[in-house]
Amino acid sequence: MQLLEERIKKDGQVLGEDVLKVDNFLNHQVDPDLMAAMGEEFYRLFKDAHITKILTVESSGIAPAVLTGLAFHVPVVFARKHKSLTLQDNMYSATVYSYTKKVNNHISISKKFIDENDRVLVIDDFLANGQAVEGLLEIIEQANAQLEGVGIVIEKTFQKGRELLDARGIHVESLARIAAFENGEVVFVEDHQ
Ligand code: 5GP
Repeated sequence: MQLLEERIKKDGQVLGEDVLKVDNFLNHQVDPDLMAAMGEEFYRLFKDAHITKILTVESSGIAPAVLTGLAFHVPVVFARKHKSLTLQDNMYSATVYSYTKKVNNHISISKKFIDENDRVLVIDDFLANGQAVEGLLEIIEQANAQLEGVGIVIEKTFQKGRELLDARGIHVESLARIAAFENGEVVFVEDHQ
């Protein structure tokens, strides 16, 4: 998505080897016009999938997920993160390992908000090693809901998340695909030699 790639070029900051900071428009300050355009784009990509619910993880997935929910006119549910795993009867839960922070987080969604009649689109801000998305997929399985696809704002193709999801035959669409960081600059897949 050209608008997003231009914004990443303008405002994204490469940190170290493999982290992109986008707190100017996505992860801290949020650009609602850009979120709305992304929501429309996800709608275009998944409109034939009869989506009934959007799922994401707090907190950075919420902005793009809500604007996607607006485009589909379906509810948006965000999984809550906890430090410790406290299993509760009324919640579906999964453990998510964060490679960036080197900690386990536990995520959960109330059984009230997802069930076997749901056809789910997962939305997240980044696809890196795929652990956050896999945690959501675990919850979708526990609920016996149907996964229709995964929509990602920024995919880092050099990390292993996409491979994991492709291996499971999941329909994944990313609005910006980063091939590499070279000398502190972002190189997108289509520009990559
Ligand atoms: P995963 O490794 O599970 O695919 O990514 C987990 C989460 O870490 C993402 O949902 C995102 O919130 C965060 N994350 C991963 N890579 C980056 C990055 O390069 N920049 C930012 N800002 N967040 C990232």
